[in-house]
Amino acid sequence: MTPARRSLEGLALGDAFGERWFPLFREPRQAYDEVRARRTPEEPEWHWTDDTAMALGILRVLDEHGEIRQEPLARAFALSYDADPARGYGHGMHQLLPLLLQEPHRWRELARELFGGQGSLGNGAAMRAAPLGAWFHDDLDRVVTQATLSAEVTHAHPEGIAGAVAVAVAAALSVRREPILEAVAARTPESAVREGLLRAVEVPFATEPWRASDLLGNGQRIRADDTVPFAVWSAARHPDDLTSALWTTAEGFGDVDTTCAITGGIVAARTGLDGVPQDWLRRREPLPGPRN
Ligand SMILES: [Mg+2]
Repeated sequence: MTPARRSLEGLALGDAFGERWFPLFREPRQAYDEVRARRTPEEPEWHWTDDTAMALGILRVLDEHGEIRQEPLARAFALSYDADPARGYGHGMHQLLPLLLQEPHRWRELARELFGGQGSLGNGAAMRAAPLGAWFHDDLDRVVTQATLSAEVTHAHPEGIAGAVAVAVAAALSVRREPILEAVAARTPESAVREGLLRAVEVPFATEPWRASDLLGNGQRIRADDTVPFAVWSAARHPDDLTSALWTTAEGFGDVDTTCAITGGIVAARTGLDGVPQDWLRRREPLPGPRN
C-alpha cells in the first residue's frame, strides 16, 4: 500500500471512530466515561464523514494528474458533495460546493466570498491534507506548495491554508520517520496555527490528553488554529501506534471526527492500519477504490 493510501485509510478510520463520540450518538458524560475506559463504541457501523469524502477527492486528482490541479479538485469536491450532501459538511461548504458544481472554474472568487469576503478559516482544508503530505513525502518544499494549492480551492483565508500545510507536512514527516512537532511549526506559515504548534512543542507528552486539549484547543471553535495543534500533538505523542493516538485525540472531544481524522491520517501514513483491533476494522465503513 502506498503511503498516501495508508494515510487515507487512517484518516477515514479516525473520522468514523471520532464521529461516534458526538452527542448525537451518546451523552457527553457517557462519552467521557467510555473514552477514559478505552471502551470501543458498540455500534455495528461507523460511517465516515465529509473529512474522508474530501480526502478521497484529493487522491482522485493526484491519481489522475500527479499533482494538484485546482479546477479538477473543485469539481471533485463538488461531485462528492452532490453524491451525498449529508456527510456532515460545515456551513461554508454547504454554501460553496453546490456553486462549484455549476461553475468549478470560478473556485477562486467563490471561495473568497465565504464569511463576508474573508474566505474560510475552518478545518476543512486541514482535515483532508494528510494523504497529500504522504504522497509528496520525499520533497517537503513540494508538500508545502501542493498543500497550499489544495487548500485554496475552498479555504481562501491564510489560517485555513496554514492548517492544511501543517497537517500535510506532519504526514510527510511521519512517512519519513522524522520527529514531527518542531519541524511542522518551522514549515507552517506565520499564523495562529503556527503559534498553536509552537505552544504544542512546550506541552510534555506526559500531559493528560484532556489537559493538552484545554491548552491547545479541540476544534470546538471550528477554526484551523483551534483544531490542528492538538491533533498534531496527539500524533507526535504516538507516532507508531494509531489506536493509542486516536484514543488520545478522542479524549479532547470537541470537533472529534475532524481531530481524529487529522491524527489518523498523520500516524497511519507511517503505520497503516497495523495494530488496529479487528472489531474496529469490522465496524468502519470501507473506502471506495483500490487498496494499493
Ligand atoms: Mg466531519
